[in-house]
Amino acid sequence: MSIFGTVQVQNGKYKIKGDFHHITPNMPIRHADEAWRLVGVTNPREMIYIHTYGGEAMFFENLGQGKIFGSCCDNSQCDFPGTVYLPFRIHCPDCLSRNTPVDLTSTCRETAVIHTFMVCERSGAFNTLDTPIRFINIEFDGVSTILMSYLSVGEPEIGMRVVPIFRTLDPTYTITDLSWVPEGTSENELPLGFSFG
Ligand SMILES: [Zn+2]
Repeated sequence: MSIFGTVQVQNGKYKIKGDFHHITPNMPIRHADEAWRLVGVTNPREMIYIHTYGGEAMFFENLGQGKIFGSCCDNSQCDFPGTVYLPFRIHCPDCLSRNTPVDLTSTCRETAVIHTFMVCERSGAFNTLDTPIRFINIEFDGVSTILMSYLSVGEPEIGMRVVPIFRTLDPTYTITDLSWVPEGTSENELPLGFSFG
């Protein structure tokens, strides 16, 4: 049995199972310059956060299958009908109607170009990416937004053609399941667990 709590939805309700709270022993805080007198205690606390994806869930489900979904406004009354969004937007920001999901996998493979990038030598808490992290903003033909992601092979350059790779082995169902490599990268250069889809 998992030591972590799990969540399922059944009959429209969240069913929570297992242990969401663990008691972890506290530790004394002592003063090194004052004969180690007691100052306080640490209270380690583990938190399991239930994060709901809502209408974006299909985007994350598809990453593990090697597919990238964006969305599109199909409302003919919209000031900007037919606008395509990646990252996936549930609603159109112009008319607020519900967007239609669109499979952009081949658009991504065939037209992705680095718009700009930044290289971060340090990261925040709970970072799971290798540092330095090569963050890239990617533009696509026919898509009105740019996508923030990260380059897994080589050094980024503005205008570089890149192709998507996917964590198809043990996906995490988070945005880090999607990464990019320069066009022409071979399968054996990809990080462990990733494939071209
Ligand atoms: Zn619209």
